[in-house]
Amino acid sequence: DGVRELLLSRIRDVADYPKPGVMFKDITPLLADPEAFSALTDTLAALCVRHGATKVVGLEARGFILAAPAAVRAGLGFIPVRKAGKLPGATLSQSYELEYGTAEMEVHAEDVSDADRVLVIDDVLATGGTAEASLQLVRRAGAQVAGVAVLLELGFLGGRARLEPALKDAPLEAL
Ligand code: IMP
Repeated sequence: DGVRELLLSRIRDVADYPKPGVMFKDITPLLADPEAFSALTDTLAALCVRHGATKVVGLEARGFILAAPAAVRAGLGFIPVRKAGKLPGATLSQSYELEYGTAEMEVHAEDVSDADRVLVIDDVLATGGTAEASLQLVRRAGAQVAGVAVLLELGFLGGRARLEPALKDAPLEAL
C-alpha cells in the first residue's frame, strides 16, 4: 500500500559498504523524513498492539531508533538488547555465529519477566543471527515472544529460515 511505497522510497542503496561487494541498505533518509518516520512508527506501534506485546525490545543500534518511538506510541516499555559489555547491570548473554567468528548480545535480566510478551524490532534482517540471539534471550528470561518486526528483510540471506526455530509460531513481520 502507500506506506510500504513511502518507506521503500526512503531507503538508500549504498554500494560496496561496509566492504566491497556488499549493497548496504541505508535508512537515514527515512529517519530524516518526518512523514516516513512517523508512518513507520505508527505501523510498528500497531504491530505491538495486534500481537499483544507488553514490552518492546530494540536491537543495537538502529533497532533502538525504530523501537523506542514505537514503544512510546503503543504505551509500552522499551528494552535495549545490546552488544556485550555495554549494559551496566546483571545481564543474560547470548553468543551467536557470524560469517566469520562469533558475536554476543545482552539484556538486563530484570527488564524481562515471565509475565511479558515481547516484540523484537530491528531495522534490517540479514542472516538472522542477531534477531535469533535476541529471541533466545527473551525466552531464557521466561517471557513469551510476540514476534519480530523489521523494516527490511534481505530475503536472499535466508534469515527467515534461520529464525524459524526460535520464533516457534510467533510471526516475523517485514514491512
Ligand atoms: P544479521 O544478524 O545478519 O541478520 O544482521 C542484522 C544486523 O545487521 C541488524 O542489526 C542490522 O542493523 C545490520 N545490518 C545488516 N545488513 C544491513 C544493511 O544492509 N543495512 C543496515 N543494517 C544492516
